Amino acid sequence: MKNIQHIVIVGGGTAGWIAANILCKELSHNDLSITLIESPDIPTIGVGEATIPPFIDMLDYLDIDHQDFINKTQATFKLGIEFRNWHSTEHRYFHPFGKTGNEINGVPFYDAWRFGRSLGLGDEYLEYSPTTCLARQHRFAIGKQHPNSPLSLSSYALHIDARLTAEYLKHHATRNGVRHITAEVNHAEVDNGIMKRLHLNNHSCIEADFFIDCTGFNALLIGQYMKTQYTDWSQYLPVDRAVTVQSELSKQHQISIPPYTRAQAHNSGWSWHIPLQQRIGNGYVFSTEYCSDEQALETLKSTLDSPMLHEPRFLNFKTGYRHESWKGNCLALGLAGGFLEPLESTAIHMVTKGLQAFLKRFPQDKCTPFSADAFNSEMCATYTEIRDFLVLHYCISQRKDTPFWQRVTTQGIPETLSHKIGLYAETGNIEYTEDALFTPESWWAIYHGLELFPNSLHRNCHDIDVAALKQYLHKVPLVINEAVKNTPPHKNWFN
Ligand SMILES: Cc1cc2nc3c(=O)[nH]c(=O)nc-3n(C[C@H](O)[C@H](O)[C@H](O)COP(=O)(O)OP(=O)(O)OC[C@H]3O[C@@H](n4cnc5c(N)ncnc54)[C@H](O)[C@@H]3O)c2cc1C
Repeated sequence: MKNIQHIVIVGGGTAGWIAANILCKELSHNDLSITLIESPDIPTIGVGEATIPPFIDMLDYLDIDHQDFINKTQATFKLGIEFRNWHSTEHRYFHPFGKTGNEINGVPFYDAWRFGRSLGLGDEYLEYSPTTCLARQHRFAIGKQHPNSPLSLSSYALHIDARLTAEYLKHHATRNGVRHITAEVNHAEVDNGIMKRLHLNNHSCIEADFFIDCTGFNALLIGQYMKTQYTDWSQYLPVDRAVTVQSELSKQHQISIPPYTRAQAHNSGWSWHIPLQQRIGNGYVFSTEYCSDEQALETLKSTLDSPMLHEPRFLNFKTGYRHESWKGNCLALGLAGGFLEPLESTAIHMVTKGLQAFLKRFPQDKCTPFSADAFNSEMCATYTEIRDFLVLHYCISQRKDTPFWQRVTTQGIPETLSHKIGLYAETGNIEYTEDALFTPESWWAIYHGLELFPNSLHRNCHDIDVAALKQYLHKVPLVINEAVKNTPPHKNWFN
């Protein structure tokens, strides 16, 4: 068996170019070459502009200079997500990145804080989150540059321009030796479950040992030729269409740019608001069962506080994932592999996660179904975790004011989530594995924001020294506020 010598990636969106860069960095030793084929006529999805903190690790891994990337992609910093109208109308809560408070006598901070509150001590929970305090004041600091300050507990990601990011990653990859072909794949030859070659619309054909499908919702290779099935989760997450538009920076944003994404709930879905350096990305994600295009457009327009930069665009999606994203010698990444609504901005991360899971099992020569099975199980576990976390945002809401909200607050939820909520409500415990994407901090943020509180206090609370707790709960918000006061406004980070 010959070693894998040539990998072809089809698709030049964010997924394709992330894949090209990571594979190039990891595998370009020996004689392995990487080619990316991108259609000049099929546009990229053009959305996908909010990220989560592992995106920063990916830039580091690819030796990408942050400042250069930020300058060239119009990026701004993201400290978390502000959720508006999710618990009930006129209600807001924040899901910050990073840590909130420190463990006290071995008791997680959230539990210690609740114990303190039961004794009448302390401030609001998020007063102990340096990330939230930075976000509220539209300020920003890089936590690791402040090792002796509470700011060290903060964490961040980026808001990016999707088109400029794909451009940036394209330059980075081609500079490092990835071959780029502009052509459309018309047809793939598969023999005995193994993909052999692709036929392009420029009448050439290309062979490879391994193929990566990054063709977006087309899922050309993995769907049409490898014939894998899509697992539909729309019974749990019924939004299935989006209307998106970019708008000018508002007068307010010209003075101060919020360092967070806004996710605002509406009658039949929710809208996003992603501030970049020179414009804002907006979209309304809705369920076609409860909302027409006209109503959706009206809702989207009601969220804008500045003129639109182009005609709004509609797009459909189906919530779910491909159980066999790796089959034979073909792997699907990005939208071709699955998509869950962008409420927690996880899709771009799933590309990196997929590549890590693939590289762990990189087939030196032949592709065994055992590696593919292990990969598919790992991806399934992460998709399931994200699905449960997203469903949580809906199912414990108090809203019942529209048919959409009546549905999402009363419909059946996955058993895995029902177990998690039951456990939390009864005991305050959050089950957690080291490789989980969402830490207990994130689960607490949503439970707390939507006001679901456990019935009992943490079993070790009574070991806490109450005098020390009182002092901690009093002092920490003051220290955080002092530290935040000395950080620059978010806007000052950009030229
Ligand atoms: C409404 C919405 C909002 C989103 N928001 C977020 C977010 O905030 N954060 C986040 O992380 N993710 C978000 N996502 C997901 C994110 O947009 C995608 O995960 C990301 O952009 C990667 O897309 P892609 O590269 O898989 O597909 P695309 O961008 O669609 O790229 C597909 C590529 O395949 C090429 N192609 C297709 N067919 C062929 C062919 N036959 N031959 C050659 N080339 C072909 C196209 O030319 C294109 O280059 C969102 C998605 C949607 C739908």
